[in-house]
Amino acid sequence: MKAYGYIDADHVGMIDYAPMPKVTPYGALLRPVAMAPCTSDVHNVFDKFSPTRKPSGWVLGHEAVGEIVEVGEMVQDFHVGEIVAVPAITPDWRDRGIQEHNFTHPKGTPFSGQRLCKSYPGVFGEFFLMEDADTSLAKIPEGVTIEQALMCVDMVSTGFTGVNNANIQFGDWVCVIGIGPVGLMAVAGAKLKGAARIIAVGTRSNCVKLAREYGATDIVSYKEGDIVEQVLALTDGRGVDSTIIAGGSDEVFGQAIAMTCFGKGTISNVNYFGKADCLEIPKLALGRGMGGKTIHTELTQGGRVWVERLMAMVACGRFDPGKLITHRFYGFDHIEEAMFLMRDKPDDLIKTVVHV
Ligand code: NDP
Ligand code: ZN
Repeated sequence: MKAYGYIDADHVGMIDYAPMPKVTPYGALLRPVAMAPCTSDVHNVFDKFSPTRKPSGWVLGHEAVGEIVEVGEMVQDFHVGEIVAVPAITPDWRDRGIQEHNFTHPKGTPFSGQRLCKSYPGVFGEFFLMEDADTSLAKIPEGVTIEQALMCVDMVSTGFTGVNNANIQFGDWVCVIGIGPVGLMAVAGAKLKGAARIIAVGTRSNCVKLAREYGATDIVSYKEGDIVEQVLALTDGRGVDSTIIAGGSDEVFGQAIAMTCFGKGTISNVNYFGKADCLEIPKLALGRGMGGKTIHTELTQGGRVWVERLMAMVACGRFDPGKLITHRFYGFDHIEEAMFLMRDKPDDLIKTVVHV
């Protein structure tokens, strides 16, 4: 089977020898209709400290909308020919940790809820398997386009996970650090949760424009001085109620803590920090350990219900994630170009999609 994946532990590319997946009793076999590379794929492949190295023939990808081509005999809700959204995170709902509400790392091992491309092959193949269709595939509501559905499986999901963990109350002041596709969805989600002021940190002009459209009230550039000083100046020295980290390198972690208010502040991180060293926390900004600031770190939520709920919001016109897409390709073979675009991040790129 043709796929985009690992040629060897250090190289990725088009391969024609990926094993053809076989349908399982609760599973469904799908072919991608549209797929998107993620900044996380880029990190997994190009960050030499990433532990996600895979054997030759291993298929990449965790963002797809697919057409069902075969279902197992135990599948109840899905049928052949249906076009569905495929959540990036698809835990095994039989894992023990699920009953402890641990949906992202439920086996007790890191990232065990993210099975696509980790414990079984990813979606960048001519065909891919979803092991448990009824719990993991998401029905696309009427009125939601394939591109909007595709943006929901990870970009909306991750941005909104950041928002869910940020404890936003009506009238709060929120800062979103990073306004790539994930941060832009965090801006949209923070507005929907009732934030009053939303300060967005980023520089690319189309991201800045879209951040304003999704609800940012203020824009801060990390290229024009310390972002902590800029956010404190905008908030009369108090800081914001919540900070969502959706971009930037190691220093943003301490900056997020420093710009978040004492006593009730929440820092919600969905960002990836590369390399295998330590993150610094400024002690004074943490009140020497007594500042009353809560820090959350999380992988995006997943599963059928979560992604169906996100798409229901799109269907009802609450926001349009389709605006994230700036680059489109047509044909499976373009997946490598799309992947390299996500790695190189030209100024006009927000998110790219490959229609198959
Ligand atoms: P992008 O690279 O498209 O966006 C990154 C943003 O961060 C840009 O707005 C960029 O600004 C900004 N930025 C860069 N450097 C700094 C800095 N020093 N200070 C402040 N802001 C900075 O990333 P994505 O939106 O695609 O992804 C965001 C993060 O989310 C990634 O780390 C990704 O791996 C992670 N992720 C996490 C998931 C999860 O499950 N937790 C799932 C999916 C993604 P500029 O406008 O200048 O480019
Ligand atoms: Zn992703």
